[in-house]
Amino acid sequence: MSGMLYLVPTPIGNLSDISIRCRETLENADFIAAEDTRVTLKLLNHLGIKKSLVSYFEHNKAQKGEQIVARILAGETCALVSDAGSPAISDPGEDLVKQCAEAGITVCAIPGPCAAITALSISGQATGRFCFEGFLSTAKKSRREHLQALENETRTMIFYEAPHKLVNTLEDMATAFGPDRPISLCRELTKLHEEVIRTTLDGAIKLYATQPPKGEFVLIVAGATPAEKQAPTASDAAARVAQLMEEGLSRKDAIKQTATELQLPKNVVYDAALEI
Ligand code: SAM
Repeated sequence: MSGMLYLVPTPIGNLSDISIRCRETLENADFIAAEDTRVTLKLLNHLGIKKSLVSYFEHNKAQKGEQIVARILAGETCALVSDAGSPAISDPGEDLVKQCAEAGITVCAIPGPCAAITALSISGQATGRFCFEGFLSTAKKSRREHLQALENETRTMIFYEAPHKLVNTLEDMATAFGPDRPISLCRELTKLHEEVIRTTLDGAIKLYATQPPKGEFVLIVAGATPAEKQAPTASDAAARVAQLMEEGLSRKDAIKQTATELQLPKNVVYDAALEI
């Protein structure tokens, strides 16, 4: 009879957040697959558990996944852990779950710490409907494309971000969503310096212009309101002025007509048209 795969969430900062069930599962498993065996060894030492560990991470997951599946099919029980939080959520595990499911192995996910949900629940933003966007690309172009695709997203958005990339990300978000969009920056959750800054994208950019961001962050960004979705932007105005000028109107007439069509003040359209 085959064994089982358990997904075991581990603390995201406060070691007391390990649950009794997680502890028992680690104790009872035949072996533990860990993202970084050194990190997991520290946790096991803290819990007084001695157990055989195998590494399972991004760059060995194809080969290790097969070995883990074979051991489970042979009757062993595996507990999968990541460095912190829930395995398979922006962490290794997704592929192993798929492989196990395809091999007919029972997978059991134990509920527990997850930075995304912890941040969402204290963000003060709407929690009724949300989407998880994980990490944005480090490449400027794909990061901006990702954010642009979310321009009209009305659900609350959850992002993971590293401190050294935070300011660039906030600037790109302000371009995509507008500077006044509310954001909650949830930092160092469950740790000594836990902090939640509830502000706007522009407010966050100004804050971190004077103090470099430190620690781990989850960004909870409010979704677009229906009014925001419909309101024409400065770039819509600039595009319409350019189009009318191409059609033969003078700049002055194009600005006047655009202001009427988009119901924007003439000076706003004039400023936008200066960019052309
Ligand atoms: N699987 C994990 C989970 O469910 O929480 C997430 C792993 S992902 C590789 C790591 C990211 O989670 C960090 O870059 C940060 O965005 C977020 N994170 C993890 N721990 C955090 C904490 N204590 N406070 C704020 N964000 C945290």
